[in-house]
Order: sequence, then structure tokens, then C-alpha cells
Amino acid sequence: MTDSIILHVGIDDTDSNEGMCTTYLTHKIIKQLKEYGIRTLDYPRLIRLNPFARYKTRGNGALSFVVELDNQKEINLVEKVVLDNVEKYSMFEGVNTNPGVVFYEGEITQEMKDYALNAIYSIYTIDYAEKFAKKIGARVHKFKKGRGIIGSIAAISIDLPDETFECLAYRKPENIGTKRKLNQDSIYIMNEKTYPETFDNVDIEGNYTAIEPHTPCPVLYGIRGNTADIVEKAHNMVISHEEIEDYCIFRTNQHTDMHIQKNIPIKDMKNSSCYMIRCNIVENPHDIEGGHVFFKVSDDTGILECAAFEPTKRFRNTIRKLRIGDELELYGGLNENHTFNIEKFKLLKIAPQYNLINPLCDCGKRMKSAGKNKGYKCQKCGKKMKSSEKVKEIIERDIVEGFYEVPTEARRHLSKPIVRMDL
Ligand code: ATP
Repeated sequence: MTDSIILHVGIDDTDSNEGMCTTYLTHKIIKQLKEYGIRTLDYPRLIRLNPFARYKTRGNGALSFVVELDNQKEINLVEKVVLDNVEKYSMFEGVNTNPGVVFYEGEITQEMKDYALNAIYSIYTIDYAEKFAKKIGARVHKFKKGRGIIGSIAAISIDLPDETFECLAYRKPENIGTKRKLNQDSIYIMNEKTYPETFDNVDIEGNYTAIEPHTPCPVLYGIRGNTADIVEKAHNMVISHEEIEDYCIFRTNQHTDMHIQKNIPIKDMKNSSCYMIRCNIVENPHDIEGGHVFFKVSDDTGILECAAFEPTKRFRNTIRKLRIGDELELYGGLNENHTFNIEKFKLLKIAPQYNLINPLCDCGKRMKSAGKNKGYKCQKCGKKMKSSEKVKEIIERDIVEGFYEVPTEARRHLSKPIVRMDL
């Protein structure tokens, strides 16, 4: 008997803002393979890569799955089914749709895992990805510019020390583009019964549900959670007033903070990368045009401009409460303008804030200045004080030490919600 063959398949960049979704295409492919008696070894994977990748459609997701095959004929069949579907259903008219597919047989090496992690930390070129594929002996297929190979290779290669699951329900083709009809109450009930094992599906404080996309794609909704079981259970609780074509559960790196590089000094931080730093506030938060809130922090190696942008909504009110000297553990990403977009922060230590005021007299009245460098005089009892020094009045702070995060609607796919943090 011959050994079986493990074939990894990666697919990326098949969709555009006008339609399709690479998760849907992957699901379609897996269903067709099942009809040929070929089954995937595990859940398909939805892997989020660098959130700053320039040509992403939405969340920079790439897809992969693994099949166990017996012979070359089966390999040929899988490759044909995958490529035919990508050819048939990709949104080729989208200017930034450049599908890429990769097939790889065998073990995932450390070098491949490193490639994948760096596809989250940094920006690659198509050329670099193609050379890497050649080096590891993977077969790549480029459609148009084939930029999708960057993500496809990462999706098959990535190691998942932490993971979550997403259950995606798909619409009947005839409904795509129309308003989604979900029973909102059922989503709240689902959340009540499954949170915190499911998360980021409802924003209770903001009073909205967050499972529906707002684009004309085949996804009806997606439910995020810690295990495959819980997202399936939660999916079964949602009532849809339109027929669901099918659903598929994906293993993902979403909500794991995999994009966050820790303890890199400010002076070494690079644009289009995400970090966690310990720092102090050196410039108080202030509003700028457009509703964005800016402030500055330092870690003794440099000064960093930080922002809570308008889409982070009520999170900006928390940011506005920070003051010079406060000590933070700050999570976020450095954009192309070298501004740090905050995803969440832990307020480690509150710096006491004071107003400097005139001293109180023994009679209980606040004293008045007796003239420049002439000390103070009480206007009630006439007592004089030689010193011109002011006294400190503590300003009460309307914030406590702890974790704070952007609301669900502004959360990056990779960002770990506080409810998943080991506090
Ligand atoms: P959706 O979430 O709807 O699937 P998307 O946001 O995932 O869409 P894609 O259509 O997949 O967007 O486009 C992202 C493109 O960026 C892909 O071609 C992918 O290969 C590429 N890409 C991914 N990571 C990097 C990276 N680190 N550097 C450069 N390009 C990248």
C-alpha cells in the first residue's frame, strides 16, 4: 500500500467590493470535492493577514484547507476543481482582484510558518511570494497579477497557537444584493445564551447587532466564538426570514492578537505593523477636525503620535480622560503616516493630577495674593503669609486602572477582545 498524500490548498483575492467572498468560494469547492468522495481533514481556515495590506478588500483574509489523497489522479482532480471554480467565480472585473492559488504537498516547515507570521507583521511583494513558493516546492497559480499568492501561501503555512472559530451562513444566490432579513431579537437571545464563549456578535452598550456584513456579498451573517461547537449552536439560534443556502465553520486566527508585536521600542517601530508598547502619556488628548482624538506617548526611546479615529466612537470619550504621566500598555497599528491607531489599552497607573491654587487661611478662607513675590493675605481676618508658593489641589479622575477597547463595530478582525484576554 502506498502512503497517502497530504495536499494543502490556499486561495486568496477572489472577491471585490461588488461581490463574492473567498470563504464562499472555498466552501463551494469543498462541497464539490465531497461529491467526488474527497473530504477535508479539518475545518477550512480563514486567516487574517496584515491589516495594513494596501490592496485588501475588507479584512485581508486568505483561505486554506487540507485534503488527504491516494494518488496523482486525485491530486489532479482537486487542482482542477479548485482552479475551475476560481476561474469561474472570481470578480475579475474588480481592479484590485488578483486571485492566487497555491498547492503544497507535505509537512509545513518552520520557514513556512515564519513566512506566514511575517505576512501579518510586514508587507510582501508578489515577486517575493513567488520566489518563496518555488523554494518550498509549492505550485502557484496566478490570475491577472496573481497578488493572492501572497496570502494563499500564508494561509496554508500559519501555525495557530491561539485560535477562534467563525460560522458563516450564506445567502441563496437570488437574494444576494437585497436587504438581509434577520430576526434581531433572536441575535440578542443567542448572545445572551452563548456569550462570552461567543463574542463580538452584539454590542450591548451600543445596542446593535454585528453579525451581518453591509456589502453585496454571499454572506448572510458570521458568528464568532471560541469553539466550533459554540458557533454552530449559536448559528442554530439565529432566526432568518430568508432561506439560508448553507453554512460553513472556519478555524481562524481572528481575535487572537496575532498581529501584535510585543515590547518593540518606539524608535524601532515601522509603519504598517502592529504593536503593544508600555509607555507614558506626554501630550494630553485633544480633538482635531473630523472627530479624531490625538495624543502623544513616550517609552524613553522616542515619542509616538497616537490616535483614536472617529469610527472608534465612544472609545474616544475614554481616551479624552487620559492625562500626561498616565502609564499605559497600548495596543494598535502604525499607519502610513506614522500615527498609531489604538485598538485597546490597559491603564496601568494613573498619574495624580493637580490644580495649583492659593493656600487656605487658618480662618478657613482662601487667601489672596499680596502682590508679585509678596506672599498671601487673608481678606477676612487679615493674616499674612510670606511664602508665595501655591498648594496642590487633587483633581478627581473619572477613569480607573484597567483595560479599555474600541467597540465591536470598530474592532479589527485580528484584535483580541478584552473578554478573551488572560486578565
Ligand atoms: P475579504 O476579507 O473580503 O476576503 P480581503 O480584505 O481579504 O477581502 P483580498 O481580496 O484578499 O482582501 O486582498 C488582499 C490582498 O493582499 C491579497 O492579494 C493578498 O495576497 C494580499 N496580501 C495579504 N497579506 C499581504 C502582505 N503582508 N503584504 C502584501 N500583500 C498582502
